[in-house]
Amino acid sequence: MNLALAFDELLHRPDIADIVKDVQTRIHAAGHGWILDQADAATRDTNSVLTAAAAAAGSNALHLNLVDHPDWVRLGLLDTLARWAAGQASTCMHSPNVMRPQPVLAAAWKPGLVVCAACAHLLQLPKGSARDRTCDACGVVVPSSGAIWSTAASHGGFVYQVGVCEPCRYWPVPADA
Ligand SMILES: [Zn+2]
Ligand SMILES: [Zn+2]
Repeated sequence: MNLALAFDELLHRPDIADIVKDVQTRIHAAGHGWILDQADAATRDTNSVLTAAAAAAGSNALHLNLVDHPDWVRLGLLDTLARWAAGQASTCMHSPNVMRPQPVLAAAWKPGLVVCAACAHLLQLPKGSARDRTCDACGVVVPSSGAIWSTAASHGGFVYQVGVCEPCRYWPVPADA
């Protein structure tokens, strides 16, 4: 089975909390509790990363829970996470590693690239370029008169950004937009 699909299935299990606890207990028992501490810290830091990512992507960015994103976003995140965990992703020069939990960023428009928070700019596309205005869901290039909406999904410290056109926006317009 595809690792991303396996992850996704896991996230949707009603007993996910028990599974996570069991895994954590085993990691502690093996003497690797520091990884969990780092992962906790990375998760806490993620909010500030999301704020920074939102600022970089424009004011329309919004953060939703992982399960509130459609399949293509969740699976895109999980697929990138799985590739990174398997050592098959490109990274920034700081070589973020899944065994050294820290907030990291990826984007639908740069498949297979994982960068640390300090290197968020590596995910940016030239402002106003066709790629910058391409919907990650349907592939349409939105004319400059139209809106491109950004959002980010996260899993622990792993943040995955997407940009979509108006018809593909799957969350309500933020009150301040
Ligand atoms: Zn970096
Ligand atoms: Zn679209």
